[in-house]
Amino acid sequence: MLRFLADSQNYCDWLKGIDRLTKDQKEVLYQRLKSELEGTREKTSNTVGLKIEDTVATKEISKVRIMADKPSSTIECCLHCGSVRIKKHGKTKGGITRYICKDCGKTFTENYGLITHYSHLSRHQLLEIVRGTISRLSITEIANNINVSTSTVWSYRMKIYQTIQNIYGQCDTFNNIVEADGKYERLSFKGCKDKTFFIDKLKRMPRHHRSRKERIEYLDSCNKYRELFENNPSLLKEMIYHSQKRMDGTRTIDRNHQHVCILTAVDRTNNIYLEAVSLGTPDSIEVYNRLQGKITKEAVLVTDDHHSYKYFTRKEMIEHVKIPGGTYVVGAYSLSRVNSLHSSLDKFISKDLESKPATKYLDLYLMMFWWLQKNKDVSNADLVSRLFSIMTGSIDNDSRSKMLPITIESLNSREFPIDTKNYF
Ligand SMILES: [Zn+2]
Repeated sequence: MLRFLADSQNYCDWLKGIDRLTKDQKEVLYQRLKSELEGTREKTSNTVGLKIEDTVATKEISKVRIMADKPSSTIECCLHCGSVRIKKHGKTKGGITRYICKDCGKTFTENYGLITHYSHLSRHQLLEIVRGTISRLSITEIANNINVSTSTVWSYRMKIYQTIQNIYGQCDTFNNIVEADGKYERLSFKGCKDKTFFIDKLKRMPRHHRSRKERIEYLDSCNKYRELFENNPSLLKEMIYHSQKRMDGTRTIDRNHQHVCILTAVDRTNNIYLEAVSLGTPDSIEVYNRLQGKITKEAVLVTDDHHSYKYFTRKEMIEHVKIPGGTYVVGAYSLSRVNSLHSSLDKFISKDLESKPATKYLDLYLMMFWWLQKNKDVSNADLVSRLFSIMTGSIDNDSRSKMLPITIESLNSREFPIDTKNYF
């Protein structure tokens, strides 16, 4: 076996290549090979039965696999009601321990709320989704790597983001010098299945309909062609002939309200707040409601000269430093931290998918970005194992109890993260 490997030119080239890898790359490769072997072993043991060489290596691998399959945190309270009066209640067919709560009477398994709960994917595939998410691979790349559909990968990615949101939420508070600013993202209704929504509310086509033929077919499929032909021929003409750029709906909705504002705050100790707060520019009340309780009276708030922060700082009696437009620094204060956070966010959002996320999921993307920023000094390999540990329940009990099952239905039926003020 070894001689055969040594004879192969590919194998030799491969080994030489290993020397040129960085420590992080070696770690990723190691994890990849480890999970690759777990995968083949699973397959082999399913098809060939027990004809596996009983080498030390395979013993080691199976030991790792058995340990890794078990959620390593012990369940100490009911995952439904939080009561500590729980006891073991048999096992599932797959050997997962089931618990029953003496207070609410409900049962739950060890993997309740975890990414492995009701999952048909193997551990290797789940690990690859986590690895791909950290390495910023596209949905398509991951789907190809593990041979599943892109929609499966997408739903697992959203489950990961949603889990991070369930555990952490917007939890940072500020008591130091904190810079705040808004970032604007164009609204995206990608994935919206209600065809008439685009035409009636937005007065435009979904962006992926390019050719005239496609556009006419689209209008026809939701019975809008005839209706517009009779009642609003000028709009019909616009929808079929105008370029997508011109057809931005500005006749009904001004540019400002076609964007969502992501209110952002960051301080010098890497506390971060990021939330989609409003359609268009947030007003004073909106800013107050969002920031109230997050920024303490000891803090100094640094913003641009937009008027919507004044109400908040006066009411909360927080020192406010305004950086006027066109200038960058006032004394020791600037907005450089929040600006650089925003450019990292731009990179994150645009690299995350083939295109920008639908606004409905924007808050999930912001949570994942938050988590990555909080762990920005950690190597990729460590990030992968950290994230995978969280997803498989190796986490403190308090966080574990916040991990609730996430279904595709719940992801699809998410509400818009902002008040649309009847614009939509
Ligand atoms: Zn209970």
